[in-house]
Amino acid sequence: MAQPIDTIGKAVRRGMLVKATCKRCGNFRCYKASDLMMVFGGGRDPLTLKFRCGECKPAIDVTLIDVDLDRMRSATVYEPFWMGGKVVAWMATRLR
Ligand SMILES: [Zn+2]
Repeated sequence: MAQPIDTIGKAVRRGMLVKATCKRCGNFRCYKASDLMMVFGGGRDPLTLKFRCGECKPAIDVTLIDVDLDRMRSATVYEPFWMGGKVVAWMATRLR
């Protein structure tokens, strides 16, 4: 197996998605590692990112997903929406 993916930058090089799953209700959102690098920097360990579930807030599991474009074509990812150099919202978008 290759090196562990312990930074967002490595996940970007493999074109991965980052999936944040709520441990309580199973709610999840996927993000492109490249978008997260723009927001949080490439050196951050993606598994330490703090996500919150809008419904119940508590613990969120973070996992990395290899993108299989045939299977993932219809996946929804949340992309940052920038205004004045800051992220003001995360918008649901169809993965291309
Ligand atoms: Zn939840």
